Amino acid sequence: MKKVCIIGGGFSGLSLAYYLSRAGVKVELFEKSDRLGGLISTLSLGWGKVETAASGLIGSPLVDDLIHELDLEYADRPNQSTRARYVFRERPRKWPLRVGETLRLTQGLSKIGLHRALNGVRNAGNETSGAKPLGITAKEWVSRQFGASAFDYLIGPALQGVLGTDDVAADTLLDYVRGMRKKGRSKGQNDGFKNGDNQKRYPRGTVSPKQGMGDLILALSKKVEELGCITHLNTAAEWRDDITTVIAAPAYVAAGMVSERLPELAHELAKIQYLPLTTATVAFSQNDRHDEITNGFGCLFPKSEKFNALGVLFSSSIFDRPHDGEIETWLFGGPQASDEIIINKICIDRARLLRRIAGGNEVHRKLLKNFKITHWSRALPHYDLSTSEVLRKVPRILADSRNARRGHGAGLYLTGNYLGEIGLGRILARNFELARQIASDI
Ligand SMILES: Cc1cc2nc3c(=O)[nH]c(=O)nc-3n(C[C@H](O)[C@H](O)[C@H](O)COP(=O)(O)OP(=O)(O)OC[C@H]3O[C@@H](n4cnc5c(N)ncnc54)[C@H](O)[C@@H]3O)c2cc1C
Repeated sequence: MKKVCIIGGGFSGLSLAYYLSRAGVKVELFEKSDRLGGLISTLSLGWGKVETAASGLIGSPLVDDLIHELDLEYADRPNQSTRARYVFRERPRKWPLRVGETLRLTQGLSKIGLHRALNGVRNAGNETSGAKPLGITAKEWVSRQFGASAFDYLIGPALQGVLGTDDVAADTLLDYVRGMRKKGRSKGQNDGFKNGDNQKRYPRGTVSPKQGMGDLILALSKKVEELGCITHLNTAAEWRDDITTVIAAPAYVAAGMVSERLPELAHELAKIQYLPLTTATVAFSQNDRHDEITNGFGCLFPKSEKFNALGVLFSSSIFDRPHDGEIETWLFGGPQASDEIIINKICIDRARLLRRIAGGNEVHRKLLKNFKITHWSRALPHYDLSTSEVLRKVPRILADSRNARRGHGAGLYLTGNYLGEIGLGRILARNFELARQIASDI
């Protein structure tokens, strides 16, 4: 088999290298920085573990296979299924909609039928079906179908928690819901990609390796090496069109790489904007008046509630890692601010959120023991209407350039979190399929 070059050693590049190497394809992986993992790493600080980006991934059979194939153990998830998720509406609520709003939501669901809605959008997003995409924002679509409150207090906050913004295309939202309903496993075929029993049981919800996400990266790196993949660190690779290449770097990097030889593709990829994000992992000592909501999964903050943060994860409660007190991960959108400002914002938000702990933000300042703040100036692709339009064009442009004889894009493939969803489970599922396609193409 011919060699395949992968440019970018984040989760996208590494997981693709894994599937290709496992199928016997010769792979060389190029990473610009001095470590693999891209956005993902786990910092072991004296007071706890800090995830710089993803803190877990949604369980699926494919994820479960990977965890076992890498000899990793899952982190304990004590009673995770009962861990309450909150949305703040005047106070933290497990269900933020009022009775009338809930009725409106149920009516909307029964009127269009969730299944029909999802299928409709699947066809709409399909180039070959000729059907038109929705072409409206998630806010417009949800408000129209289910009422404005369903967006403001349910869908909008969820989008902010996952994608860092609620300004998202309706097609993206519906693709996301469809993705959640998929099992993340392809039907077994006898081509090196067979993946065992489709019916097997696997841990659902958010899962993570015992020692954190950094361990997943470490184990993947070791495994691809064992399988014969050659890795080059500190190597900012360029795309060469005489070797089958997968660009697994962000869209703006891919755009630069192909700009000379595939200008139409470069033009589209360059339109994908990235959003800045800040995560703050903070350790608080426990107050005498413990607020039980911190035993839950986390809380999302709707825009109209005017919190500083987008949401908070009660990390020490989700993964039950050793801790003394409470470890929380707060998520902020917008441009970078100083540590002092971020901490101040957390204490203000925390005072509003945990009302059993009396005394205002000064009390939370005193309870604060440690923190680690990570800024990403270009954290995640902005899945707005413009990106949605780009994503409809990219497969066609790539296919055209592959079909054009001796065309420059003959052996070019793309992977990354800007091509559909940011979730690692979905990236894994896409790379499983992509590896199969590449192995059959070369
Ligand atoms: C704060 C935050 C929280 C998140 N939480 C979750 C979560 O809980 N669950 C979840 O599933 N997902 C989560 N995500 C999303 C997930 O972490 C990302 O989607 C995923 O890690 C992206 O991986 P990637 O490989 O596509 O990109 P990246 O991690 O950006 O990797 C790209 C790599 O390409 C390299 N590169 C760039 N240019 C070149 C070049 N010229 N040559 C060689 N290499 C190059 C870069 O150095 C980098 O290593 C989160 C993201 C953020 C920012």
